[in-house]
Amino acid sequence: MQFAPVAPRLSMGVGYVSATELDFYELLEVERGADDKAIKSAYRRLAMRYHPDKNPGDAEAESRFKAINAAYDCLKDPQKRAAYDRFGHAAFQQGMGGGGPGMGAEFGDIGDIFESIFGSAFGGGARQQARRGADLRYDMEVTLEEAFHGKQSDITIEVSQVCKPCGGSGAEPGTGKRTCNMCAGHGKVRAQQGFFVVERTCPTCHGRGEVIESPCRACRGEGRVDEPQTLTVDVPPGVDSGTRIRLSGKGEAGPFGAPPGDLYIFLHVRRHHVFERDGTTLMTRVPITFTTAALGGLIHIPGIDGDKLALDIPAGIQSGKQLRKRGAGMPVLQGRGRGDLVIEITVETPTRLSTRQKELLQELQATETGDECPQSKGFFDRIKDAWNDLT
Ligand SMILES: [Zn+2]
Ligand SMILES: [Zn+2]
Repeated sequence: MQFAPVAPRLSMGVGYVSATELDFYELLEVERGADDKAIKSAYRRLAMRYHPDKNPGDAEAESRFKAINAAYDCLKDPQKRAAYDRFGHAAFQQGMGGGGPGMGAEFGDIGDIFESIFGSAFGGGARQQARRGADLRYDMEVTLEEAFHGKQSDITIEVSQVCKPCGGSGAEPGTGKRTCNMCAGHGKVRAQQGFFVVERTCPTCHGRGEVIESPCRACRGEGRVDEPQTLTVDVPPGVDSGTRIRLSGKGEAGPFGAPPGDLYIFLHVRRHHVFERDGTTLMTRVPITFTTAALGGLIHIPGIDGDKLALDIPAGIQSGKQLRKRGAGMPVLQGRGRGDLVIEITVETPTRLSTRQKELLQELQATETGDECPQSKGFFDRIKDAWNDLT
C-alpha cells in the first residue's frame, strides 16, 4: 500500500461498468463498408434488444446499450466515422473530437494516435501490448477518531476479475485461437492517407494478432467478469479528507489477461461535534464559568485520543482567548509527532442564580471601584468624554 497522486485514468465510482472495448462495427454487427441505412437499422435492432427497460437490473446489458449508443453516435456522423476509421477509439480521446455517451477513459491510449501517425518510428509493426485494466475509485468515510487512531476496514466492491473458466484468454475452454486474417497476425494494418502511410491497430483483433475461434461463455469472450471482491484496507493514523490510498493491482482486470489497474481509496473525514481540524491542528471551543475566568483554575477537557486533558486557566482570562496544548492534535500522516490542540475560551455569564448567589454578587458589586475591569472602565470613560463634548 502506498500513497500516490491521483491517476489520470481514474474512473469514477465503484461498480464502474467498463465500456466494452469492441470495435464499433462489431458492436453494431455491420460490415466496415456498411452504408448509413444499414447502420441505422442495425442500431435500432440492437438498441431495442439491450435497452435497460427490457433488461432491468442487467448491468451488462446496460453497458452494452451504452456502447451501442456510443458506436452509433460515432458512425452516423461522416466526420467522426472517418476519424474512427483512421485512428480507432483513440480518435475520441484527449480532445480529438467529442466522445459519445458511455465512452469512458478506457478507449485506447494516446500512444495509439502517435503510433497511427508515425507508425514504425515508435516501434510499430510489433503486436500491440495489451492495455492495463482501468483504475477504480472507492470513497470511504471515517470518523475523526478513526483518522486519529487509524483503522482496518473490510470493503466489498464489484470489480472485474480474470475469468476463471478461460483464464482471461476469452476463448471457450478446449477451443483455440487462430491468426487474425485482417492483419496476418501483425496486430496492425496499414492504409494510404494522402502522403502518409498510416498504421493503426487492427480493428478485428485489436492489436492482439490473433482471434478467438469460439468465445468463452462465462465472459462472452471478454476474458473478465464482474465479481464482488472483499478487500482489507489499512487506514493509517493521520489521514485527512482528500487522502488517497492506492491498492496496487486491485482495480479492474485487464482485457485478455493484461495487468489489472489500481484501486484508489478516497478518504473523507466526517465532521466532529467537538473538534475542528486544520491539517494536524485541532481546534475546540470551551465555555468556562465567569468565576473560573476571574479566579483562574484547573479544568479538564476530553482529548481526541480519549484521554482527559488538564487545562490551566489563568486568572482574568477573557472570552475569545486561545490556549494551546502542544502535541494534543492529530498525528502526522506517515510521520512522527502530533500537531497542537487550540482551545478557544468562552466565558459564560450565569443565567440561573439562587437568591444567595445574587446577594453575593450584589455584595461584590457594591465593592467595585471600576478598576477591576480596566476595559469597561476605559470604555465608559470615553463615552463620558463624548457626552461632555456634546453638551
Ligand atoms: Zn472466460
Ligand atoms: Zn488483426
